[in-house]
Amino acid sequence: MHPPSVDALARSLADLDLPHPLAVDAAREAIASGDPTAARPLAEAARRRLLVPVVNATGVLLHTNLGRAPLVPARPPASAGWRAANLELDLETGRRGSRQSRLAPLLTRLTGAEDALVVNNGAAALLVALAALAAGRDVVVSRGELVEIGGGFRIPEVLQASGARLVEVGTTNRTRLGDYRAAVERHDVGAILKVHQSNFRQVGFTEQVDVASLATLGPPVVADIGSGLLDANTPWLAGPPPSWLAGEPAARQTLAAGAALVTFSGDKLLGGPQAGVVAGSAEAVSACARLPLVRALRPGGLVVEALQTTLLAYLSRQGRAIPFWRMATEPLAALEARAAALGVGEVVRCRSAAGGGSLPGLGIDSVGVAVPGDRLAALRGWDPPVVGLARGGATLLDLRSVDPADDEILAAALAAVTTP
Ligand SMILES: *Cc1c(COP(=O)(O)O)cnc(C)c1O
Repeated sequence: MHPPSVDALARSLADLDLPHPLAVDAAREAIASGDPTAARPLAEAARRRLLVPVVNATGVLLHTNLGRAPLVPARPPASAGWRAANLELDLETGRRGSRQSRLAPLLTRLTGAEDALVVNNGAAALLVALAALAAGRDVVVSRGELVEIGGGFRIPEVLQASGARLVEVGTTNRTRLGDYRAAVERHDVGAILKVHQSNFRQVGFTEQVDVASLATLGPPVVADIGSGLLDANTPWLAGPPPSWLAGEPAARQTLAAGAALVTFSGDKLLGGPQAGVVAGSAEAVSACARLPLVRALRPGGLVVEALQTTLLAYLSRQGRAIPFWRMATEPLAALEARAAALGVGEVVRCRSAAGGGSLPGLGIDSVGVAVPGDRLAALRGWDPPVVGLARGGATLLDLRSVDPADDEILAAALAAVTTP
């Protein structure tokens, strides 16, 4: 028997919704390997390498591998066509405007900052802040805050890239105001940097200096608060601030304590797209805005739109419209009812985590369904893929990180992978 032609084999994969050249590649590889039936799995694997929507049932609300915060759904297009946006057009004057002026007024209203600037991510925000205030000068940092955040973000390296010089003070576990003061007296200090220990906790014999005390020393204080909690009082939530937020620094309170600049990510607790925000005094933000570096790190129009949508939800006090806050504050009873309604697996208590390098060690009580055995690979193979957790010898799907609209998908996937 002749092997099938590449073209015929590729055309037999048309149902996979893969562009023809990619189906041809799969067909060619299968025929070359002597096993034409391998074409379908190869084509399926090629499809799986693309970016696809995934159901996150890990209970990690900001899952780094799943893009951190899920986005507020974009507004539906007005028509099937296309439409431009006033990204850099000032509609008053008809002249060129700034993409930053879409977001700055919203960020200042939410945080009490005088001005704000948006860049590509949290690391870029800190890079810009340090370059603006301290390039060619010294930056004082506690030895307890020379941290590494996921993805290779290391404070000493970002500091070096900014052109500033690092002056370490104190010890790993204890740093006092006097340590900072001595450094300020001896060095050419452009800024004092305070970094939130986002992804780990120090307990025991420890001492750190707060922003209010640092602000008395003279040089501007840059506070990298990390997660983008806008206000410790969470006015966008119906109830009081959740207890698990305690200790998480917030932009509004850090600026009120005297920081010249705060920097944070857009896609952690803020619940928006990948972005970095620098917010603070008008003078310090305009020093940032003047850097040529900012042009290289500017956010794209898609990010400006998604961040604007998120910030408008905060201003309208619609925390439940922001997926992170909706997930984080969903009552246990609602999760229990959803788990029972799935009608498959055993309803179990579990603990969700904020994730994204935020709130380490803190769990949020949650409810999931467990099925015996390791079904993780089969669930990832579902369309759309479902990502769960191994627990003991069982597979656990935590409902807190799942959009209720996806419960039916979860039920169907679980039923399919557990049917012998
Ligand atoms: C997450 C984090 C960063 C890095 O932010 P990205 O948006 O990942 O670039 C920097 N500093 C702190 C304290 C963080 O928690």
